[in-house]
Amino acid sequence: MKPKIVRTVESLRREVARWKADNLSHAIVPTMGALHDGHIQLVREGFQQADRVVVSIFVNPTQFGLKEDLSRYPRDEEGDVEKLAAEGVPLIFAPTVEEMYNLNAATSIHMEGPAKAGLEDKFRPHFFDGVATVVAKLFIQSQATAAMFGDKDYQQLMVVKRMAKDLSIPITVFGVPTHREDDGMAMSSRNRYLTKSERSQATAIYKSLTQAADKIRNGKNPQSATRAASRSLTTLGFKVDYVAARNAETLAVPTNTTEPLRLLAAAWLGKTRLIDNISV
Ligand code: AMP
Repeated sequence: MKPKIVRTVESLRREVARWKADNLSHAIVPTMGALHDGHIQLVREGFQQADRVVVSIFVNPTQFGLKEDLSRYPRDEEGDVEKLAAEGVPLIFAPTVEEMYNLNAATSIHMEGPAKAGLEDKFRPHFFDGVATVVAKLFIQSQATAAMFGDKDYQQLMVVKRMAKDLSIPITVFGVPTHREDDGMAMSSRNRYLTKSERSQATAIYKSLTQAADKIRNGKNPQSATRAASRSLTTLGFKVDYVAARNAETLAVPTNTTEPLRLLAAAWLGKTRLIDNISV
């Protein structure tokens, strides 16, 4: 069956009220659309955690910088609806910008902690306040008790978990493992920007992270392993924003050898910015 599409907060609330009246729980999967199999993994995990799943599709302008790709960000609502129908998703929330951001809105969320780790925030300073604000709104609007986010955007996952905790929003945020192509490349809506030859090169990000993780497991210092990964990506023609080893929970720079580590990378290939991360 085709999912029902609602575009206002009022109609979203009406739909979830029905579920609540029937004692059915629901999870939310926030997305910006142009759905791929990575998003679908989040939907499937949503159905593991709740009776119903609502997927939001909203290209959030407040998380894009002035020079970023808001206007060319891929949109394909028809294709998205078809993919979600195949998964049995009953409800899609696809609000307009005007519905989400009242012209008179005077409130937004500003975050420190994981949002100021010196990773994505260093290159996209406006990004996490925009994400935290829209995700907090989606949590409150949907009244879901579970939310699915991808490990793919690892710093974002940490930011959203922290935001929900700090604001006492009664929702559990689940991280879902990164879904990858056969060659290891993390699936992303932005991969469609890549030319054919860039696409075959792009797998080097995952490969260099995997190699760095292997070296660290074999006793190499995390800083020198990530520096080597960064150098090899630069040699291959990437413009590297960062390759970093961080504490997997706090995202702080590691200070001892027993901490759980996450390796995170962001690099440009031509006009496309790619990110990825793995655990050690
Ligand atoms: P986006 O539409 O890119 O904002 O992503 C929406 C959600 O899907 C976020 O929680 C992402 O982390 C998640 N996501 C994107 N790509 C993947 C992937 N390859 N595997 C798992 N989750 C993903």
